[in-house]
Amino acid sequence: MSERARTYEVRTYGCQMNVHDSERLSGLLEGAGYVRAAEDATPDVVVFNTCAVRENADNRLYGNLGHLRPVKRSRPGMQIAVGGCLAQKDRGEIVRRAPWVDVVFGTHNIGSLPVLLERARVHDEAQVEIAESLEAFPSTLPTRRESPYAAWVAISVGCNNTCTFCIVPSLRGKERDRRPGEVLAEVEALVGEGVLEVTLLGQNVNAYGVEFGDRGAFGKLLRSCGEISGLERVRFTSPHPRDFTDDVIDAMASTPNVMHQLHMPLQSGSSAVLRAMRRSYRQDRFLGIVERVRAAMPDAAISTDIIVGFPGETEADFEETLHVVREARFAQAFTFQYSKRPGTPAAEMDGQVPKEVVQERYERLVALQEEISWEENRKQEGRRLEVLVAEGEGRKDDATARMSGRAPDNRLVHFAPPADAEVRPGDMVTVEVTYGAPHYLVADGPVLDVRRTRAGDAWELRQGRTAPAPGVLLGMPTIGAPASSPRGAVGA
Ligand code: SF4
Repeated sequence: MSERARTYEVRTYGCQMNVHDSERLSGLLEGAGYVRAAEDATPDVVVFNTCAVRENADNRLYGNLGHLRPVKRSRPGMQIAVGGCLAQKDRGEIVRRAPWVDVVFGTHNIGSLPVLLERARVHDEAQVEIAESLEAFPSTLPTRRESPYAAWVAISVGCNNTCTFCIVPSLRGKERDRRPGEVLAEVEALVGEGVLEVTLLGQNVNAYGVEFGDRGAFGKLLRSCGEISGLERVRFTSPHPRDFTDDVIDAMASTPNVMHQLHMPLQSGSSAVLRAMRRSYRQDRFLGIVERVRAAMPDAAISTDIIVGFPGETEADFEETLHVVREARFAQAFTFQYSKRPGTPAAEMDGQVPKEVVQERYERLVALQEEISWEENRKQEGRRLEVLVAEGEGRKDDATARMSGRAPDNRLVHFAPPADAEVRPGDMVTVEVTYGAPHYLVADGPVLDVRRTRAGDAWELRQGRTAPAPGVLLGMPTIGAPASSPRGAVGA
């Protein structure tokens, strides 16, 4: 009688880089014979892919590990593995604080997970493996992609910058660039599988090429993506304003499948604060890029990350941030209250801003940005948009429920499903925007066009469906979301 396959679950925290790494962890485990655990079942292996940049990340991890301890006791053979940035940072400390953990692996050791699990099982002893630098680019590892229609493609890992609030460089190491031919081969293979949209991923995509000596490499890569037949949407995250060249703006504007969407972290509008953050651009440079992007692509949606209350930030500095927000008219901003991150230079700086001051500034910033986001979304009313339908959690029994997807500029669009046509995640629909809400667009009228795609077929295949089903009803889509926290591993 054959042995039952061991089951696994990967729990992911943090940024898109981690989400993508988790796809690789799943791919590796499946390659080694594990199968994904059913949602309500206790897995044989639980993998934590951790993030070190969020507040209280370690408390949360040790809390979660504590919850699993009795579960593990009652389930002989169960294993727990901890990877990601917190593992890279805490290393052996994890098995000292939680001796029931079986494996600790670093950000450069993803490929070792199955072997480490096996070794821990055979020797009945915790395995800790943390490499200091990357030996092989993780793209060579197998991947279990979450979506059949949209995919992340890593072009670089690590970062050569030293922003004082960010722990990423010490945990992810120096920038390593993947060769363009390898990136394009992966994109082509994905398109061959039905993927319509790729997001090129790196801590600082504009620095791409620094390792192999071609500063124009990112613009060239975008243009080459434009030549891949069947690839409908190309996005990228995150660019650093310091390295942003006009060539990239030209490439975005002149390559039809590169979407007119830009997530460019501002962090602060004050040049003095930017200096303290060791961000080597100033307010005028940031606004200059925004102006040139708008001149080349008037329909571009620009989003950003902003930190409020960085040490030393005065009211006048904060007003500078509000000024940039008013000028740039971001479609969306991810706003964060500064809080100390152990291990970062900013945590030791004088001039920490009192919590209530940070809170008050934060509220003013959010109110201003909400107003702008809403005004910008209302400008979309009456526009016809092609929407890539996304998968979600919607009720399948309610025929009036809305479906959702992403517009070319990545705005979230809710639309009423057509009564006479099947629409699947991965298909394209054309709709007319009837209402712009603060955080999404609504198209309540009839769907003007449905384009069935290979991505939709691939989605259907994954569901194990043989016959067409009525409209699939959706909640929040997960594709193509803009970059995460400024202190996340992605978000230059
Ligand atoms: S914030 Fe971005 S650019 Fe700055 S060090 Fe961190 S990853 Fe690098």
